[in-house]
Amino acid sequence: MSALDLPVTKLTGIGKVKAEAFGKLSIRTVGDLLLHFPSRYENRGLITPLRDGSLTMAQSYVLTVATPPRSARIGGRMTITKFRAFDDSGTIEVTYFNQPYVADRIHVGETFRFYGRLTEKKGKYSLPSPTAELVLPDRPLPALYAVYPLAAGLNNNTMRACVAQALDLAHAALCEILPEDIRRAYSLATYAYAIENIHRPPDMAALDRAARRLAFDEMLESALAARLMRAKQTRVTAQRMADTDVSPLTAALPFALTGAQKRTVDEICADLARGKSADAPRMARIIVGDVGSGKTACALAAIYIALKNGCQAVLMAPTEILAAQHFADIEPTLARFGYTTEKLTGSTGAAEKRRIKAAVAAGDCDLVIGTHALIEDDVTFARAGLVVCDEQHRFGIAQRAKLLAACPRAHMLVMSATPIPRTLSLVLMGDLDVSRLDEMPPGRQKVDTFFVDSGYRARLNSFIEKQVAAGGQVYVVCPAIEPADDDADDCLTVSAFGAAREDTPPLRSATEVADALRARFPQFAVELVHGKLRPAQKNDIMTRFAAGEIQILVSTTVIEVGINVPNASLMIVENAERFGLSQLHQLRGRVGRGTRKSYCVLVSDAKGENAERRLRLMTKTNDGFVIADEDLRMRGPGDFLGTDGARQSGEGRYFRMAAMCNDPRLFEDATHAAETLLAADPQLAGERLAPLRARLDAVLHYGGDTMN
Ligand code: ADP
Ligand code: MG
Repeated sequence: MSALDLPVTKLTGIGKVKAEAFGKLSIRTVGDLLLHFPSRYENRGLITPLRDGSLTMAQSYVLTVATPPRSARIGGRMTITKFRAFDDSGTIEVTYFNQPYVADRIHVGETFRFYGRLTEKKGKYSLPSPTAELVLPDRPLPALYAVYPLAAGLNNNTMRACVAQALDLAHAALCEILPEDIRRAYSLATYAYAIENIHRPPDMAALDRAARRLAFDEMLESALAARLMRAKQTRVTAQRMADTDVSPLTAALPFALTGAQKRTVDEICADLARGKSADAPRMARIIVGDVGSGKTACALAAIYIALKNGCQAVLMAPTEILAAQHFADIEPTLARFGYTTEKLTGSTGAAEKRRIKAAVAAGDCDLVIGTHALIEDDVTFARAGLVVCDEQHRFGIAQRAKLLAACPRAHMLVMSATPIPRTLSLVLMGDLDVSRLDEMPPGRQKVDTFFVDSGYRARLNSFIEKQVAAGGQVYVVCPAIEPADDDADDCLTVSAFGAAREDTPPLRSATEVADALRARFPQFAVELVHGKLRPAQKNDIMTRFAAGEIQILVSTTVIEVGINVPNASLMIVENAERFGLSQLHQLRGRVGRGTRKSYCVLVSDAKGENAERRLRLMTKTNDGFVIADEDLRMRGPGDFLGTDGARQSGEGRYFRMAAMCNDPRLFEDATHAAETLLAADPQLAGERLAPLRARLDAVLHYGGDTMN
């Protein structure tokens, strides 16, 4: 047995209780523990003189103990232990609560590296509960301190100690997975080096090499898995449909299809009519297109074909509002062809639900449009032939799979408004065929976009005033609800891949922004909507905004998958530097949906050249695919891999290292390597690929059941 397969209880200090805590993180073996990567690293190597200490973020101070630690009771069972310590620039009181044993570890004259945040009370500064590491002349302290995702019952010190033991125990068992020629061709560190240094990097360069290698593995594996999955998938079958003329439907639409829509509809027709027998390969297609590119019409064509072929269809939307909008759009059109459509969501009454479920089960209803209530209520279908999922990134792959499980003979069509670069499609959705709606319907107005700093606040307010006075409505989007959502420690995060983050300007929370706007515009209705509200409250505010009763809607990104409010003419994004470009683009798509001339203002005080370049790009183009390509080129694939759209396993994000990668080259290398390997050995069956193949089987095991 390999040391990697040993249970974590073999490690010193891990009993039953801690083992259970590890279990919550899906860590059962030493090998699992080694694959539990840090979420960030504190740069403790940067020593700050006390004089320059910070009240807002944790920093390292190298201090010598001046007075013996003294413990005192402070009411009940609480104790406080205090001592003074100094450096060349000053002295300070260090305090620990309920840790009287620190007195045994800390002695006058010793020097420690303390890491913590200063506090101030009545002009007196102190350093409460810092971590303390003894400084010895012959043993330099590592600069980077790994911080792990934790579960209740575990702290970071336990985690670090266990990982250190695991590394010592299992180092020899960390066998290379990549063939040597591939590893050398792309200048990658060995697997053992990568695992060792992702946990215990002596410096940034080592961390960078480790992260690169691990990110490469993730990208390579998922590119390979996608190809193998695709091969497997052609064996999954569904109801074959006859070649169907969709022109009666398109003639019933109030517009002519764009070229891109026509191409997409043709692709769907071809998918559905593949094969010769009644059992044909299942369609697994995703339509990717900007908001407003007309995905619904394409989906409607697919639904029409299914119904014409005597099948039922089901359309699942991520929110009640979207389900209602689809119902309003689609029901009348299908009714003209004699088809019935029902809507089933969480708010459908119990009696009504029973009626609809009975109708669907009996085959009396042709199309059912709904939310995830469709899955939760175990709707059964008489003859489902098509499943359509709107805005796929809101659903887990598991949910999609569950709906498909209820419709064993159904084809699948997914709609996504997140344009991703063509080169990433293979990795992110290699299990789906992609139709790109890269052409907007005619007559769409361009949303004029500006990038300003907060010095423009007064002018921005007059602009809001003007828009509302002219009858328009305003969205204001903020990255967080409360100021506290901004984890001060985060500022210190050293991202892997060497690039320390650019300075982040302070956060304006949605709550603060709403308060400021209410004070500035008492004559307008200003409302705040965010994810922590109950769904009914959220719905209520959204509905009132749609009805024009609210003029200014402040929100977090919950409106991203929002509603169609054609009257909204201005979108303001606060702390725009905190959003990915694709996300900004998506947000911007909420305005310019009606006849009003519309604007988007990105507010950011970010000083970094990178942030500025990215935001400038938004002012220059409205094409989501162009923005996605640029984002990939400038920032690497991380933003895309880190989104909800990325493939997820049952146990969390699949791309852990790749999501932090801001190196576009690495992604190209991984794709290239995947192609090279498959060209030489399409089944990856060769002996030298055995370790890689074993890993892939694990990936395929949890990522690959999408289609079943
Ligand atoms: P999305 O891709 O965001 O789902 P929709 O399908 O909701 O876009 O379409 C957005 C709007 O554009 C709808 O009002 C729809 O009626 C209209 N539309 C769709 N296709 C066309 C077209 N080819 N020409 C004109 N308008 C269109
Ligand atoms: Mg849509």
